[in-house]
Amino acid sequence: MQPNIQVTKGDITKVQVDAIVNAANTSLLGGGGVDGAIHRAGSKAILEECMQIRARQGGCPTGEAVITTAGNLPAKYVIHTVGPVWQGGKANEELLLANAYRNSLELAKANHCRTVAFPNISTGVYHFPKHLAAQIAVKEVTNYLQLHPDHFDTVLFICFDEENYQLYQNLLST
Ligand code: ADP
Repeated sequence: MQPNIQVTKGDITKVQVDAIVNAANTSLLGGGGVDGAIHRAGSKAILEECMQIRARQGGCPTGEAVITTAGNLPAKYVIHTVGPVWQGGKANEELLLANAYRNSLELAKANHCRTVAFPNISTGVYHFPKHLAAQIAVKEVTNYLQLHPDHFDTVLFICFDEENYQLYQNLLST
């Protein structure tokens, strides 16, 4: 069966999937927004593993991803990816955002995660334009699932705000 893509409005820390994706920053030390919410709800275990990864590889470059436990969260793993900060569109932001989605799915596949939930990476304090971010996210995930259909059941886009929710609904209903 082909994997499916769904959109939901809500809080990603409550979602029961194999892996939730975190919109982290390059330090991996936690921050605001969805990153803060995941670390708060997941317990210190997530930060401890992030610190181990940091000691090994010095953080996570933009567009790449790392995986940790999900601590107390209902998910099994947290995949921490770093989206680009929007700088007007001339700093490779589109490519880097696509990389963040693709590398998160690579890591999910490598860890046998069949259900994955994404937040709307870079559309908070990183100020990536929401319509463009949604197009990139849907395109990249769709392409990846077409290439690796046997490895996934469902990919969820968890939208926290109404604007993103509408954008994703429109893109996925066409
Ligand atoms: P970034 O630094 O990548 O922009 P943010 O955390 O500031 O990351 O925002 C990314 C997206 O995550 C935003 O659309 C924001 O509304 C959303 N968000 C914030 N909290 C949550 C949450 N608990 N669950 C899902 N999405 C969230």
